Amino acid sequence: MVSTDTNPMPSAERFAALQAIQRRRPVAVKPPSALQDIWASDVFSLERMKEALPRGVFKSIQRTIREGGPLDPSVADVVANAMKDWATSRGALYYAHVFYPLTNLTAEKHDGFIVPKSDGRAITEFTGKLLVQGEPDGSSFPNGGLRSTFEARGYTAWDVTSPAWLMRTPNGVTLCIPTVFVSWTGEALDKKTPLLRSNAAVNTQAQRLLRLLGEKEIAPINSSCGAEQEYFLIDSAFLALRPDLQLAGRSLFGAAPAKGQQFDDHYFGAIPERVQVFMQDVEDQLYRLGVPAKTRHNEVAPGQFEIAPVYEAANVATDHQQLIMTVLKATAKRHGFTCLLHEKPFAGVNGSGKHVNWSIGNSTQGNLLDPGHTPHENLQFLLFCGGVIRGVHQYGPLLRAAIATASNDHRLGANEAPPAIISVYLGSQLEDVFNQIKAGELKSSASGGVMRLGVDSLPEFPKDAGDRNRTSPFAFTGNRFEFRAVGSGQSVAGPLVVLNTVLADSLGWIADQLEMRLGRGESLEQASFAVLQQITQEHGAVIFGGDGYSSEWHERAVRERGLENLRTSADALPVLKREAIRELFSRHSVLSPVELESRFEVYAEQYCLAIEVEAKLAMRIARTTVYPAASAYLSELAGSIQEQEAIGLSPSRELAQQISGLNAQLLEGCAALEAALAAAPHGAEAHMRHCADRLLALMGELRAAVDGLELLVDDAAWPLPTYQEMLFVR
Ligand code: ADP
Ligand code: MG
Repeated sequence: MVSTDTNPMPSAERFAALQAIQRRRPVAVKPPSALQDIWASDVFSLERMKEALPRGVFKSIQRTIREGGPLDPSVADVVANAMKDWATSRGALYYAHVFYPLTNLTAEKHDGFIVPKSDGRAITEFTGKLLVQGEPDGSSFPNGGLRSTFEARGYTAWDVTSPAWLMRTPNGVTLCIPTVFVSWTGEALDKKTPLLRSNAAVNTQAQRLLRLLGEKEIAPINSSCGAEQEYFLIDSAFLALRPDLQLAGRSLFGAAPAKGQQFDDHYFGAIPERVQVFMQDVEDQLYRLGVPAKTRHNEVAPGQFEIAPVYEAANVATDHQQLIMTVLKATAKRHGFTCLLHEKPFAGVNGSGKHVNWSIGNSTQGNLLDPGHTPHENLQFLLFCGGVIRGVHQYGPLLRAAIATASNDHRLGANEAPPAIISVYLGSQLEDVFNQIKAGELKSSASGGVMRLGVDSLPEFPKDAGDRNRTSPFAFTGNRFEFRAVGSGQSVAGPLVVLNTVLADSLGWIADQLEMRLGRGESLEQASFAVLQQITQEHGAVIFGGDGYSSEWHERAVRERGLENLRTSADALPVLKREAIRELFSRHSVLSPVELESRFEVYAEQYCLAIEVEAKLAMRIARTTVYPAASAYLSELAGSIQEQEAIGLSPSRELAQQISGLNAQLLEGCAALEAALAAAPHGAEAHMRHCADRLLALMGELRAAVDGLELLVDDAAWPLPTYQEMLFVR
């Protein structure tokens, strides 16, 4: 619907866009297919393997997937051939090793199944070697100095634990094989390798702890992730007129609309028809890919929506999360939309995050973060939960670094998203339990039951041990933690790697303490209580149940609690260079010091690049689009003033003066930005600081001039689609 209330006469380009949008009809999609007909139909799943593979081969591969054992090389040829037969029977001519470089994007190298023969025939072939290992030209992927271009070899290696799938595009069908991406010398160049390693680390330490708690049969422990994805949809007719959205993913200019999100009438409101049709199309594709998309609704901001799959094993969830982003973007185009995954596409309007719900568990003990119903499980829960608390307190700055991007900085710490200070929300009941532990005496739980860390008398927490607290970056939500500060465009791998690793580290420490105390003859209850008490005393400062948005907390967190407030990525990324962080990742064999250093280099470079691109773009748009429009209008105004004076009137010059003043401010702003861009210092940390403190500030000043002009210049002459149009017209 085109609303015209504050747009009496938009410019010709904007008017054309608005007309095009008004003519749009929802793209016809087939009525939803029956789920059982399409569910995972494009996935080479365990069931498909079972049908297609000889029993022995299937058993071997199943063991590798379930228990993480080594892959038997002799089965690779058989699996490759079965995979090829399955894929080609569904129209695939190509296969691709899909990998996840350090860019948050998905990369793939396509190869044909075709093999020409000497007699002129061509056959399709896919060998175990081709399945297991690929060699994309790695030189153009960011590696932070891990490889120089003259030794550019990079290998992809099949990740058996995530299933292969078919990607369908108008150009055909491709068999996609999830892989890790490593350098010639074996260093991880991607996001998947450390994730798999961090899972192994958490498994090792959790097994130790469970054995100390008396468990005999312990299945492999895995982390789980359910990530809620927020995104914006704007009509693509506007995108053509907004180079900032095209290139930077966010609007660098734009005055606040007369109607913002003050009315909260979008959240959970009826989903507009065109958007519903889009969502159905997305879900249809995701179901075929075996991605369990479950929830869809409007989000807080106008034009903002959310999609959430049911949680899965972290590795598969991470691959699926990448697929969700890819499918959202590609499908939006077909529906005349652009899907914005930027964390803050519109200033003054709620940004987009990705809430990462995370837990660990296995098939024998279940979810280890579930408070559970029996005392024994509660002891287990309290220790695992205590492990999380300790880990988040010790490594809060690392968690902040894991979500540090130029775009996410616009969201964190604003009055709509969790602050850059990492604290833990437990909910009143659990917070009370840990307070009692801290005081040295567990007497009661908030539900009134008697509670000691004895055997029979531990409390039974109700399933939802906590309320919701939207202002906390890291909240316990019943049987999992929800990391709410992750950016909407980010891969969830980085945050999951940090969560798994810090938990592994804490569980290892807890196991050490228990071993020592049990060795001294303490009972399991005594020892556990003592360890938990130490955790609450040393790390309780991270627990916070109040309003995370308040300025009072920002001050107190730092002054009284000793928590770090790392406002920008320029503050947060250098955390990766700290000795303690290097040791943490080395201790658990998740990232070697070189791999960690390379990540710092890559992320620092990406940060600077993102801001410098924006700065150049802002300058160009201001000078070549906004200034000419404002000047033309100013000439018109001046002409009109002269004409009026010629007939003896005395018109106001105020508007002309204001526009002239803002024009001057615009030109000065551009000149200052240009000078600052040229003055970038050497060295990653200094460069980041320069971008954070200097470039962003100057861009803010330039923006003030441009947004001021938007409110004064004739609407018919204003070239950029307005916030009002982009957010409300669909
Ligand atoms: P919200 O109320 O925050 O929208 P939902 O109940 O919709 O929460 O769940 C959000 C996400 O958390 C979903 O992806 C869901 O599958 C996931 N989730 C639920 N339980 C767990 C768990 N034990 N571990 C990890 N993720 C979980
Ligand atoms: Mg949530």
